Amino acid sequence: MPAIRSQILEVVRDAYPETFDGLGSSKPLGESVFSGRTPHPNEVLNLFVQQKITSALPMAYYMATRRGLNSLMDGHLPRSATLPPEILRSAMAGLMRLREVELNETHDLIFEPNRSRPCSTSNCPSRTPTGQAALVAYHKVFDRIVCSSQLGTKVLQVPEFYEDRDGELQCVGPGICSGCVERWESGHAELRKKAWLTLPNVFGLKG
Ligand SMILES: [Zn+2]
Repeated sequence: MPAIRSQILEVVRDAYPETFDGLGSSKPLGESVFSGRTPHPNEVLNLFVQQKITSALPMAYYMATRRGLNSLMDGHLPRSATLPPEILRSAMAGLMRLREVELNETHDLIFEPNRSRPCSTSNCPSRTPTGQAALVAYHKVFDRIVCSSQLGTKVLQVPEFYEDRDGELQCVGPGICSGCVERWESGHAELRKKAWLTLPNVFGLKG
């Protein structure tokens, strides 16, 4: 039995990493790692709490909350995936906190930095950061990053700043240059790390 337990824990550790570096974008994370029927993330969270797999709890909470309140509180789920009140409370509080950080910091990232140091690339709307073209572009980028997570959160996910237009990769914000996108990418990487470090705290797992 100890051997089986340690094998299972290894699989769990890989899919529910304990460190930020474990969050590789190319490997399967969360409930998709289980073979057979993919369990609901609430079910995994319940199981980890019951089994006291504490090292995996920050990520398990995140996986359950990123789908939003409707998923957390879904009344049609089987008993095993229904969250008891105290877990639901922690999950909702954490989700609200993560959403707040995601919205505020992404907003600052996209809208703020260029004001003091305008882009010098010709034709990039960020040459005039408060101009109409720049604001339209910034709104598009901001919406792309946070809007589809409206009721949940994607704060740990690498955002897509580019889209395919007629076979050519272009920034979601019309005309924005690659230098500006690179600044946003590295800024968002910092935001992901910062958000990751807050997980134990926002979900009340400290102490
Ligand atoms: Zn630029």
